[in-house]
Amino acid sequence: MSPLKAVRGVRDILPGESPRWQQVEAAARAVFEAYGYREIRLPLFERTELFARGIGDETDIVKKEMYTFEDRGGESLTLRPEATASLLRAYIEHGLHVQPKPVRLYTLGPMFRYERPQAGRYRQFHQADVEALGEIHPAVDAEVIAMLVDFFGALRLADRLELHINSIGDAGTRPVYVARLVEYLTPRREGLCPECRTRLDRNPLRVLDCKVPDCQPIIEKAPSILDSLSPEAAQHFESVRQCLDAMGVRYTVNPRLVRGLDYYVRTTFELLTTELGAQNAVAGGGRYDGLIKQLEGPPDPGVGFAIGLERMVLLLRDVEVAATPLALLIPLGDAALKRLLPLARRARQEGVGVELGYGGRKLQKELERANRLGVGWAVIAGENELAQGEAVLKEMKTGEQRRVPLTRLADELIALARGRKDPV
Ligand code: ATP
Ligand code: MG
Repeated sequence: MSPLKAVRGVRDILPGESPRWQQVEAAARAVFEAYGYREIRLPLFERTELFARGIGDETDIVKKEMYTFEDRGGESLTLRPEATASLLRAYIEHGLHVQPKPVRLYTLGPMFRYERPQAGRYRQFHQADVEALGEIHPAVDAEVIAMLVDFFGALRLADRLELHINSIGDAGTRPVYVARLVEYLTPRREGLCPECRTRLDRNPLRVLDCKVPDCQPIIEKAPSILDSLSPEAAQHFESVRQCLDAMGVRYTVNPRLVRGLDYYVRTTFELLTTELGAQNAVAGGGRYDGLIKQLEGPPDPGVGFAIGLERMVLLLRDVEVAATPLALLIPLGDAALKRLLPLARRARQEGVGVELGYGGRKLQKELERANRLGVGWAVIAGENELAQGEAVLKEMKTGEQRRVPLTRLADELIALARGRKDPV
């Protein structure tokens, strides 16, 4: 691979795609802030130890996906593979837990995982991450989930996604289920994929998460974790469901949903789509009540989720976004340029996107450019028009044209922009 090309699995987000990214980020900020979340901006790398302890040694992320390096001082650092560990580190380090609970925080930005790149799976990718800290009440789980659904609703994607929820019980009682699972899986070991055979020995719960087709018939008949919940965990889950029902949030209970991170307890959830092939999870999260303490912080519970923004943007592919300028102003000659420049500036100050010719090209060439830009209108000012203090306003689609006094041109463009359905 040429050293002058982008690294494998790492992509440029080109201008053609940026409007969709901006739309996703703006929707995230608007929805999260309406629910009382405030932005926290975190560093892109941390001490490796933080992720080993905050994500779990037995997870795929820590075992094989981290970008770890030694800096010049000999310290082991890692590019963050997810945001929760860093966010909790900051929460503890800055004493944010003294604020009224739940402390609601969100962050947006790139994450780094050494994975096999494919559509919807990259080595540098972006997440929106949300955490509600310090409150154990099941209504918070429901509220967090409802907010996630509302975020997709704000982008008109709600009916293209399915919400799955589950409870994986408490850390104390989960071993009871794991023992039942191992008892069920052990005689079926030969039917499992090689990866799952290793999981059976090291982290049996993760077998439920396997996507390999051969494993599916075995996974489908596995005992349900919901039958092994402690009374407290069962009550918590029941209450989460009641709160979701009260808000009219539709969901599917999926007892196989265990998620990849070691620290989850009780509620887990995922938003799935059928539109992105194997990369079917768009967002996922859950409750992690012991984690803050494990990172040497206060014994605060927490619940949160992460949304994969690349997959969001892929889903938005067929949603129309307008980024084209409204009009191309075409001055024919230098005198006309000097008249149109300030008018273009005024329109732009009003937030109306216009593009300008610089007077050196033939009208025919400029009209071709207007077509390629996809603008709605061309404004043409030549010697003739200028002498009469006017310009020609031509609608590209119909070819219709009329004359407009230069003194009114900027207002006319602003009015056209306001009348246009899509944003400018
Ligand atoms: P997957 O099962 O797809 O590997 P995950 O369980 O590893 O997902 P999380 O750690 O829960 O994912 O991250 C939350 C979201 O971030 C995922 O639902 C997905 O949309 C996105 N995501 C995770 N890894 C990648 C990646 N390598 N490239 C792009 N998006 C990703
Ligand atoms: Mg993964």
